[in-house]
Amino acid sequence: MPGTAFPMHALMEITARPSPVMVRGEGSWLWDHEGRRYLDFIQGWAVNALGHCPPQIGEALAEQSRRLISPSPAFHNGPAMQLAQRLVNGSGLHQAFLTSSGAEANEGAIKLARKWGALHRGGAHEIVTFENAFHGRTLATMSASGKPQFAALFEPKVPGFPKARWNDLGAVQAVCGPRTVAVMLEPIQGEAGVVPASTPFLQALRAWTREQGLLLILDEIQTGIGRTGRPFGHQRAGITPDILTLGKHLGGGVPLGAMVAAREVCCFEHGDQGGTYSGNPLMAAVGCAVWDAVINDDFLARVCRRGERLRQGLIAVSARRGLGEVRGEGLLLALDLGAPIAGAVVDAARELGLLVNGPRPDRLRLMPALTVSDEEIDEMLARLDQAIVRTRS
Ligand SMILES: *Cc1c(COP(=O)(O)O)cnc(C)c1O
Repeated sequence: MPGTAFPMHALMEITARPSPVMVRGEGSWLWDHEGRRYLDFIQGWAVNALGHCPPQIGEALAEQSRRLISPSPAFHNGPAMQLAQRLVNGSGLHQAFLTSSGAEANEGAIKLARKWGALHRGGAHEIVTFENAFHGRTLATMSASGKPQFAALFEPKVPGFPKARWNDLGAVQAVCGPRTVAVMLEPIQGEAGVVPASTPFLQALRAWTREQGLLLILDEIQTGIGRTGRPFGHQRAGITPDILTLGKHLGGGVPLGAMVAAREVCCFEHGDQGGTYSGNPLMAAVGCAVWDAVINDDFLARVCRRGERLRQGLIAVSARRGLGEVRGEGLLLALDLGAPIAGAVVDAARELGLLVNGPRPDRLRLMPALTVSDEEIDEMLARLDQAIVRTRS
């Protein structure tokens, strides 16, 4: 048992973990302490854009760690400025604030919107968010989330996050009033089980928020940096948000996030926002390396092709085994299992050397590395098919 070799009880138990201890990763593969190999379609919870331990990240870390790790956020450093420049160029927005996590980026967005509301909207501070949304695990981002499991936790919540029904502009309008300053959403609700905002909804919401003088905040922590086959998920709808948040893929596996905003919204004054690790050059150097690897036409075209191969394969498995719909975009896909068997399929798949995630009792989510190969996709589909058969027998 790993319990004897690894002191696992000293770690606070915040989730049920299976017994294998992961010790090594390479590309789409993970190895445990007993040398078993797993085909990984979880990838650090959708963070490893370039797979496990890609050379670009190793080199960026090694090089930057010999030069400068933490000059403090009170001084300029090159990698932070270079990453911010890439983010504003790529998004069409104007300034970025760098963080160490997605939740922290969303906290920054919430604070920026509230500050903007205090200055320009007579103190309006409410931010409309959505049922089943997920925005993070700080107290404010849990309050902004619409995950039913969060509803009773850690009361009292941070006030000011009225919820609207997903993909329903009328529902948004119904909860907006003089206190509203912004609407915040994910282009695809990831933790909810990969549920896209429809393109007409995104376009109508952008037009209406602009007309009303409300800010549109897009949480692209899961959908950004190539995941959907585009640099950002919202580009599918041809819209631009006022505030954009990033995380996960941005760091390719290291703790890095960002909040990027339009010029008119950048209203923080000195002392309003900060963070000891904000813009630290070690992580920012990795962010630049990931960006340069992912944000180019060839790479993104490959993501689209692999996403299509995975989608077609999942549709075939679903047809063969009488399952439900395949949803999502690029390499963020979900398979509806038609019954609450996701936990059993996840366990059976792991026994077969395949790692997949079940965000809901009846749904699997696939979030492979963007560098996953055709052969690995085919191998994954074969193992998944076996896992489903095994679960049902
Ligand atoms: C993962 C995620 C977050 C939270 O990011 P952390 O880095 O875990 O704080 C927020 N929003 C969305 C859409 C996410 O997928």
